[in-house]
Amino acid sequence: MTDRPIARTRDEALVYLDLNPCACGSMDTEWDSGVVSVEGALAKCYSGACEDCGAAREYLFSLPTREVMPAGWPTFGGAEPSELLDAGEWMWLADLTAGNVPDDPENARRALSMARAAVEEVLKFIPEGQDDVPAAAFWSARGREVHAAEPPRFRRDRLTVVRDTYRDLAGR
Ligand SMILES: [Zn+2]
Repeated sequence: MTDRPIARTRDEALVYLDLNPCACGSMDTEWDSGVVSVEGALAKCYSGACEDCGAAREYLFSLPTREVMPAGWPTFGGAEPSELLDAGEWMWLADLTAGNVPDDPENARRALSMARAAVEEVLKFIPEGQDDVPAAAFWSARGREVHAAEPPRFRRDRLTVVRDTYRDLAGR
């Protein structure tokens, strides 16, 4: 077996790739994706050339145990929490998109849908019957920073209110 993280959906993989730019700092890459066999196991491969420096980039992800059918945009995954972005990074993404909502209605709706889905991902880290995102759900430097800045934001009740607010705003 491999410890390669699972990319549950293409939408999730693309968000992860945006968060992990090329060594030159650019995130502009036209990604090709396909299923490949690595050491006897199937993996999803995203490859492309950096549009700024031309470097070849390639990322391998494990396939999800059960395929997630996209249900609207974005679909980051099923009920299981992400292995690519930690809870703090999803919050960071929600803050970024909800903090930069464009004026035109269609793009505004997309930004708010992205923010709503990102908060939903934070909620998936909270175990059944608990009220808080556990410490183990923050494994990246960026994620820990977001958590440390305001830990109460990661309570279930607050996350639910924020998610519903973004959903209502997106539905307008
Ligand atoms: Zn580059």
